[in-house]
Parts: sequence; structure tokens; C-alpha cells
Amino acid sequence: MRSALYPFRRPRQLPEPLRVVVLGATGSIGGQALDLVRRFPARLELVAVSVHRRWQELASRLRGLPTLVAVDDPAARDAAAAAGCFGARLLPATDSAALVEAVAADVVVNGIVGAAGLSPTLAAARRGLRLALANKESLVVGGDLVQAAAGAGGAEVLPVDSEHSAVAQCLCGRAREELQRVILTASGGPFRELPLARLQTVTLAEVLAHPTWQMGPKITVDSATLMNKGLEVIEAHHLFGLGYEDIDVVIHPGSWVHSLVQLRDGALLAQLGAPDMHLPLLYAITGEQRWPLAASALDLLQLGNLHFHAPDTERFPCLDLARQAGRTGGTAPIMLNAANEVAVAALLRGDLRYIDVAAIIAGTLERLPAGPVADLSAAMAADAEARRTAVGLVKRRSRDSARRGSC
Ligand code: NAD
Ligand code: MG
Repeated sequence: MRSALYPFRRPRQLPEPLRVVVLGATGSIGGQALDLVRRFPARLELVAVSVHRRWQELASRLRGLPTLVAVDDPAARDAAAAAGCFGARLLPATDSAALVEAVAADVVVNGIVGAAGLSPTLAAARRGLRLALANKESLVVGGDLVQAAAGAGGAEVLPVDSEHSAVAQCLCGRAREELQRVILTASGGPFRELPLARLQTVTLAEVLAHPTWQMGPKITVDSATLMNKGLEVIEAHHLFGLGYEDIDVVIHPGSWVHSLVQLRDGALLAQLGAPDMHLPLLYAITGEQRWPLAASALDLLQLGNLHFHAPDTERFPCLDLARQAGRTGGTAPIMLNAANEVAVAALLRGDLRYIDVAAIIAGTLERLPAGPVADLSAAMAADAEARRTAVGLVKRRSRDSARRGSC
């Protein structure tokens, strides 16, 4: 390699192979993490994976990768044991959190969806493992708890979310004082320009037709309501230690600029790339190693222009609901997340209209006053109470719409 005048940084050496655990291995993020393991067979060693229930899908996904397997759901775990599919590699009485506590590993990729990801996140943080965190709900529900655990355990938490990965990449090597604000980009989802009246009648298929990203169903719905961006604002608050007034959101339909950072001298730094999670995943797993991954390179000439505009908060009330819950703090973001999970599950079952998701969340937050969160059990109690309230609200709405339908 030619020598240079510029004082290039010398990358910190990582142990190789890096021993990787993938939680949520049947998911969209989990599958892409397995792709990376196949892409770098000498540098990444898959030591263990977890799934919630769909262990049958896992065998074909692993395609011979020898690894320990944990199944979160006890009934599904028993069925997997009875089928003998994974032999002795299936761990008895082990869920994702127990797996993270027990296994010898360097990096945990948390690709679980929802608040269920918090316990394994805390386990990795307490053990001081590097955490490649896709499960943003961990930070929405337990940001302060994760921070305390990571501080005590010495864990490094690196975001997988493309926006926060972009921010982390722009911040690499900088001091906290240099950072003034972040600008998170949002595609705007499938309903960015739909006439407002049409939002009343959109179908589930339309909700799930994301214009730029291929993802799991829950985050795809969150992207259509912009709750995903609301959760990401709270995620950014915890990751980068910023006040809510210093976290902006702009709509950028192309999803090429993954997010921006404004430094105190006014410099605006951005990271650009194709809408492909392999790069942010690899960055979170390896840090600033920059292993070769040319597939993500972007053709600027083909791109031509970049467009940005302000989010329409009347069209997307979830964004403000999340911002407000983040500002309130304590149990408010936990309840926001729980109500959203209930509403999204109902929407995916066909029991709730798209337009009613925000109303379920707002109704839940109106009924339950926010309180402090002392520990994980307080967080889980707030989560359970909000779920009960949201389930009641969903039932009432579907009764009302059935009555309207029968008139
Ligand atoms: P997905 O639905 O495709 O996969 C979810 C995984 O979580 C599955 O493997 C499932 O077995 C597991 N899981 C579900 N419920 C569980 C439970 N109760 N206990 C344990 N495991 C459970 O979801 P995804 O799209 O891969 O998203 C995963 C996380 O990554 C989410 O938090 C999402 O917001 C975040 N994320 C995803 C993308 C993406 O491109 N898919 C991008 C950015 C962030
Ligand atoms: Mg994102």
C-alpha cells in the first residue's frame, strides 16, 4: 500500500474469528447477520442463535452452519427437541437472555423485535459484550437501564438501525462536545403523498408495501405510521446523549442519506448508501474495521438529486406522540411502545384499521399517568398495564366498527 501524508488512523485489532451470537435468527435482521457470517467465514464464527417459535425455518436458514440453538418459547422448544432437528445443539431450558448469559462470545446481534429484546440486551450489557443492537425497543423501553448495565459491565453498544449507524459513523473518533444535533432521515413510508381521506381505507397490503426497505412486518407497519421514526428519536436520545430539541427528523424519500450530524462549528456530515442493512450490521459487529463490502456502494450519477422536506405531523401523529413520550420520560415511552405493539399486532391480524393505530396509543397514554422507572420489574409492570389498556381499546374499536359495518 502507498504511504500517505495524511495521518490515517490505525484500526484497533479485534480477535479473529469474532465469536458472534445472533438473536432473532429467523428475522430480517437475523437473516442478514447470517449472510455476513457466510461472507466472512474466517473472520466471523457463529457460536449461537435464538428464535422465538419458528425453529422449523431455522434449519434451512442455517444451511449446515454448526451452532448452538435456543428457542425462546417453551412449547416450541419442546416441539423442536421432540423433532430432534438440532440434536445436542438445541439448548434445554434456554431462552435468548439465558443464552447471552451462558455462551462464550464477543458480539451479540440483537435482531429480536419488540420489548422482548430488552432482557437479552441487558444480559449482553451486564456481561460487557459488544452489542450490535437492532432491537431499538430495548432503548425505548429501558434506555436508562441499558446505559447503567453497559456502564457497569463495560459493554460497547453499537446501533444497527441505519440512521443511528450513520450518526455513529459520522461521529467516529469525535468528542461528545463536538456534537450539536442529529438529523434523522425518514423515507416517509408508503403514505407520504396519499390524499388524507384515503388513509381511512388503506389495506394491510398497502401498509406493508414499503417503498425502499424490505423488513419484518412490525417495523414495516411502524414505518407506514412513522412511529418507527418516533422510536428512533428516543433511541437517538439514549445512544448519543442528546436532548429532544437537538434531534430533528426530515423526510428523504430516496433513503440514500441515512442520517446527518451537525457539529458545533456548523459542519454537516452525512453517511450515504443504498438501502441495505448489511453495511450498518457489519459496522455494528466490527466497529471501525471497514471490512470490504462493495455491494453497498452507491452510484451518485444514477441518483441525480437528493430531496428533503419536513414531516407532516397531522398525517403522522405517531411521530409527535413518541417525541412527547420521550420528553415526559419515566414509564411514558414504555407505555407508548407497549400500546404500539398491541395496535400493530391487531392491524396485522386484520382487527384494526391503519388510521386507528395512533388513537389506540394516544388513548392508552391518556388513561395511564407516567411514573418513574426504578428497575426492570417496574418497566415490565408498566409495559403489562399499557398492553392491557391498549387491548381493551382495540376491542372497543373493533366492536364499534363491526356495529358501523352492520348498519
Ligand atoms: P422480524 O419480524 O423479521 O424478526 C424478528 C425476530 O425476532 C424473529 O427471529 C423472531 O423469532 C424474534 N422474536 C419475535 N418475538 C420474539 C419474542 N417475544 N421473544 C424472542 N424473540 C422474538 O423483525 P426485523 O425486521 O428483523 O426487526 C428486528 C429488530 O430490528 C426490530 O427491533 C426492528 O425495529 C429493528 N430493525 C430492523 C430493520 C430491518 O431492516 N429489518 C432495520 C432497522 C431496525
Ligand atoms: Mg431505521
